[in-house]
Order: sequence, then C-alpha cells, then structure tokens
Amino acid sequence: MECYGIVGFGCAGYHGAKALRDSGYTGEIHVFTGENEALFNPMLTTYVAGGRLDEAASFPFGNLGEAAEALNLTVHEGRVEKLHTEQKEVEMADGQRFSFEKILIAAGADAFVPNMEGGDNENVLVMRTLKDSLRLKEFLENGNIRKAVVVGASMTGIKVAEVLLNKGVHCVLNDFAPHIFSLAALDPIAEEIERRVQARGVELAFGAGISCVTEDGGGLIVELTDGSSYPCDLVVLCIGTRAVTGILDEKIEINKGILIDERMQTNVKGIYAAGDCAEGKNIQTGASQIIGLWANAASQGRCAGRNMAGFSDTYEGNIVHNITHFMDMDFISFGDKNLPGETVVYNNPNPELMTAAKVGEEGLICVNILGSYENTGIIKNMMMKRMRGNSTSFDTFMEEKLRQQGFDSAFIKILGGVKE
Ligand SMILES: Cc1cc2nc3c(=O)[nH]c(=O)nc-3n(C[C@H](O)[C@H](O)[C@H](O)COP(=O)(O)OP(=O)(O)OC[C@H]3O[C@@H](n4cnc5c(N)ncnc54)[C@H](O)[C@@H]3O)c2cc1C
Repeated sequence: MECYGIVGFGCAGYHGAKALRDSGYTGEIHVFTGENEALFNPMLTTYVAGGRLDEAASFPFGNLGEAAEALNLTVHEGRVEKLHTEQKEVEMADGQRFSFEKILIAAGADAFVPNMEGGDNENVLVMRTLKDSLRLKEFLENGNIRKAVVVGASMTGIKVAEVLLNKGVHCVLNDFAPHIFSLAALDPIAEEIERRVQARGVELAFGAGISCVTEDGGGLIVELTDGSSYPCDLVVLCIGTRAVTGILDEKIEINKGILIDERMQTNVKGIYAAGDCAEGKNIQTGASQIIGLWANAASQGRCAGRNMAGFSDTYEGNIVHNITHFMDMDFISFGDKNLPGETVVYNNPNPELMTAAKVGEEGLICVNILGSYENTGIIKNMMMKRMRGNSTSFDTFMEEKLRQQGFDSAFIKILGGVKE
C-alpha cells in the first residue's frame, strides 16, 4: 500500500490531506503535528486573547481526533526534526524515522523574534499559536498590566492593540516604518487610520525600530533605535514570521520560503510544499514570494494534495492583499503599494468611505478602501483578471452596485481599468 507523509497539520496540511482523500487516494496518510496545536487557526489568536472567541472555536476543521477519523489519518504528535530528502524519510525529535513515497511539507511559519537584549524576557510575547494567545489572555486577566508596547503596526499588531485597549491597557504602537500598514496602506489612507487610532487612545511611535528591552524595577523599558524609550509592563512583538525551513537538508531549494512550481512540487520529485513555509507567485509582479494568507495556504494545500493523488492541477498564485477589521474600521488593500506610480484620493458620495488608488504607466497598481468590506470579492477578482492581462471591465450591473455603495465614479472607472 502506498504511504504519504504530511509535515505540519494546520491549514495547508489539512487541505492537503482532505484533497488526497477527496481525489480517491486510499493509501496511508501520516501527519506530523509539531509542538503547537494542530489545526489551530492563527488568524484567531487575538480574538481568543481578547475573550471574544472560545478556544474551541479556533479549530475550523474540528479537533485532531475528529479530523484523523474523518480522513483516516495516522497521527504522530510531535516535532519533525529532519527531512532526509534522498530517502524521503521524516525523522522525529525522538529519533523515530518514517519513510514515504511522497511528502507534503506544510509546517507554516514561526513568529519572528529579533536577536536583541530582552527578547527572551517572560513579559515579551509573540502572537502565532494558541499558547501565545492564552499567554496574553492570562497576562490581561492576572498580570496587572497597565501599559504595553506593541511592536509592528500591521494586521497582527493593530489587532493586539485593540485587545489591549479593550482591557483598559494604555498601548504604544511602534513600527520601524513611518506609517501604519507600511506594506498595504497608501500614505493618505495610512494618515487617516493613524488619526482614528490615536483618537481611540493609542500612542504611536513610528519611524524607529526596537533595539532592546531592559528591566527596570518591576517593569520593562523598550528602547528604540532613535534613542527614545517607553516604560511598560508588557511587550508584544508582531513583526512578521519566518518560514519553517530548518528541518530541510540542502537538497531542497529555498529562498525565504521553500521554492515550488505551480503544481506545488519542490525541486525534488515527490516532495511538495504549501502554505506559509512555501513561496508562491505574486501574479502582479511575477515574483516568487511568501504570500502568508489563510486562503493561499488552503489553495496551495489543496493543489498539492490533488497532484500527490495523481491529478495535474495548477495554482496560479495571488496578489498582495490585506483585509483587516479592527476598532470598528475595515481596511482593505489590493495590489503591491510599493510599485512606482501616482496616488490619487477619491471624493466618494458616501462620506463613510475613503478610497485611494496608486496608478502607474500600465494602469492600476494598488487600491485602498477604508470604511467597508462589501464587494471586496468583486474588486479583487477584477484586479486579478486585469493583472492576468484580461482587458475585461465591470458590466453596468456591477458598476451600479458599486455606485449604490457610494463609490466615486472615477474610482469605479479606475477599478475597471479606465484611466481618466
Ligand atoms: C495574528 C494573525 C493574524 C492573521 N490574520 C490573517 C488574516 O486576516 N487573513 C489571512 O488571510 N491570514 C491571516 N493570518 C495568516 C494565516 O493564519 C496563515 O497564512 C495560515 O495559518 C497559514 O497556514 P499554514 O498551514 O501554512 O501554517 P500554520 O497554520 O502555521 O500551520 C503549520 C503547522 O505546522 C506545524 N509545524 C511547525 N513546525 C513543525 C515541525 N517541525 N514538525 C511538524 N509540524 C510542524 C505547526 O505546529 C502548525 O500546526 C494571520 C496570522 C496571524 C498569526
């Protein structure tokens, strides 16, 4: 009987296993879960920490036992220490080795902690696993936390700041970049978000990175690279992740993540990779990069599973995007804001909506919407179509739908590819 292995059982690993079974594969599937809770959705860490979600609700595919039964899996709880490429063998921390015909690497990413003084202080947290969110929750319930510094002002950092605010903790939001959402927000939108976040009581400290955390009496001091310092009781580092690639030997090609083709296969036949540990194609630029999104991990995992089962599926990649709800705001960004172009702010009939677009020689580069996530699927699909070189535009029904939502007609036109 054939025997396949899946290293890492989060979003990508689950979808890989499910696609194998849905495609009719009847052989053995062994999954290796790692040290953290298998099947946990990392997107929900801040909701669990803030008490808005129960732990149980952060497992979208059910618990490990249920998934194992439904998909007929053999589960190995624990960390894979090494993947021996040539032998297609997986070695666990206790030395056990298992050999497979095909392997899917779906080990995700670890929260990044810079190598700095105080990085290992017990009041310095990160936000990736269920353990991380329960730790923050415990600090907020029992830790007498009055002031916190959140490092990293993007999707995760802003949600952590919201949790702290809701618990009455004074929060300093720090980022190395000069503005919030530095990879997604065009300057006028970033400035508006900053204004609203400050109005909520968040103190901003932008344009200087963290250099160290020192202890001072019973508290901590965060020092930044510009010489400023912030006393606090707690630090939460939300400065990105690093793909889990340390388990691989040199035979598998890696950039920042594992390099794969459009069938999710690495440079080694029979070894596949998917999700945050792997790269994918940025459809807009053609570059191979880590995409780091839930839906991307699901699509890559599914594609890998189908191909392992003998089908020939391809996954074309994604565009850079950010859909974040925080502090009663919806911020949406599609496209790579760092490509060259001119930023235009639109004057929408609906005063609740603030929109901006970056437009280059070839047309639309990046779109920002602050105020609503309605119709974002339609807008993203249109951008994806145009980036694939399709000259399609909105039909009159869709144009009317966007107009009714209160978007300016010039904004609707640029979304549909018409430069004024
Ligand atoms: C706070 C936060 C907010 C986010 N918000 C959004 C959002 O709004 N929208 C969005 O699209 N995405 C968001 N994401 C990203 C999204 O959660 C990830 O892209 C997605 O979970 C990636 O899935 P994955 O399966 O690749 O990795 P993971 O979900 O990390 O799963 C990997 C699994 O592999 C296991 N593993 C690791 N090392 C080993 C090993 N050596 N041996 C065996 N197993 C191992 C891990 O324990 C884990 O269970 C957010 C992430 C965070 C942390």
